[in-house]
This record gives sequence, C-alpha cells and structure tokens, in this order.
Amino acid sequence: MTGERILVIEDEVAIARFIERGLIFENYRPVIRHDGHSGLAAVRDEPPDLVILDWMLPGLDGLEVCKRLRRASDVPVLMLTARDDVSDRVQGLDAGADDYLVKPFSFQELLARIRALLRRNAPASRPEVLRFADLSLDTGTRRAQRGERMIDLTAKEYELLELFMRNPRQVLTRDVIFDRVWDYDFGGASNIIEVYVRYLRQKGEAGDEARLIHTVRGVGYVLREE
Ligand code: CA
Repeated sequence: MTGERILVIEDEVAIARFIERGLIFENYRPVIRHDGHSGLAAVRDEPPDLVILDWMLPGLDGLEVCKRLRRASDVPVLMLTARDDVSDRVQGLDAGADDYLVKPFSFQELLARIRALLRRNAPASRPEVLRFADLSLDTGTRRAQRGERMIDLTAKEYELLELFMRNPRQVLTRDVIFDRVWDYDFGGASNIIEVYVRYLRQKGEAGDEARLIHTVRGVGYVLREE
C-alpha cells in the first residue's frame, strides 16, 4: 500500500494534469500547485513525502523554490527541466535537488525515479549507528557526526555516505555507486558522483580534519584512513 503524498509544482496545466492522473492511478496522493509561492505554502501546510518541481516557473523559479525549501526540509526533490547540460544540472544539485528528469519524459521513467527516491528516504527498519574512524552515521536520524560536530545531509548525500560506511576500505567503482545510489544510468558522462563526493567532503572533511573519502583515479572512490 503506497499513498505517499507527492507535491507537484508545475505551471503547465496539461503536464500537471498528466502527472496528477498517473500518480492517482498508482495510488499516490498528488497535490498540485502551479507556482512557487503556493508550492512552498503547501509544503508548510502539510509536509509531502516527495516534491516534483518544475524548473521553469513564473515568478519564483524552480531553483529558488528548491533553495527555500531546503532551508526548512530535507524532503526528496525531483526537478523537471527542459535543460540538459551539465552546468544546469550542477546548479540544480547545488540548490538541493536530489534528482532530475529532462522533459519530455515517459511516465514510467518518472515513476521509477519516484520509487527510488521514496525507497531511499524510507526510514531504516532498525536504526543503527555506522562508525568509521571519528565519523558516525545514524540510519535513524540520517545525520552524520564527525567527532563532536553534527553534519546535516540531504537525501542523496546520506545515501552515498551510507554506501561508503557500509563498505569501508573497499573501492567502489563509479558503476557500483550509480547502481546503488541512483538506480539507473544518469547519462554516462555525467559528473554527478564527483559533485556529490565534493559535497560530502565539504561537509565531512572540514578544516583540518583528515580525508576519509579518497579518489581512486579512473576507478571510483574508497572510504579509508589517510
Ligand atoms: Ca514550466
């Protein structure tokens, strides 16, 4: 039984309706808003389980909506965009989006990404605290801690770090990381893994803290001591 509440912020009425109908058919509970301000208000009124956010919106655009959303919530955000070059993707990821779908898209692909985001964001059945060196990751609260320092993570950052923490000292290839964290091919030449490793390093290796996520050039990454 699903029934997750999915907020769709999309100004194009035909597309919004297409998504709404499909989501209802799949037993989700869609809530449709046609602009950024009312979308943010809907998040405040009743927090959704996932947000589908169009990039090109009148007034407040999708990027700005995503940034504002992130100040208050770590709900998974799937951005819809007609743009498909890497710098735009990075911009969206920097704003806090968890995933992307480029228009036009098939409804099956939209569903696959929704399922992946919801599954990743589902609370762990038995919360535990994973530890490596002075880094710990609580699978219940989904927060990390380095020494005494608490680290807030977005949904995708958490998944990537959890993958590393569950496979310490093992080299994880880019293919494995794609497969386990993104569930599908993000587009071959995408630098999404590099972008997220950079985020994790910025948050988890601040100041003079020792490096924990090491690059294995041409292969992937490994969580290990210096
Ligand atoms: Ca639009």
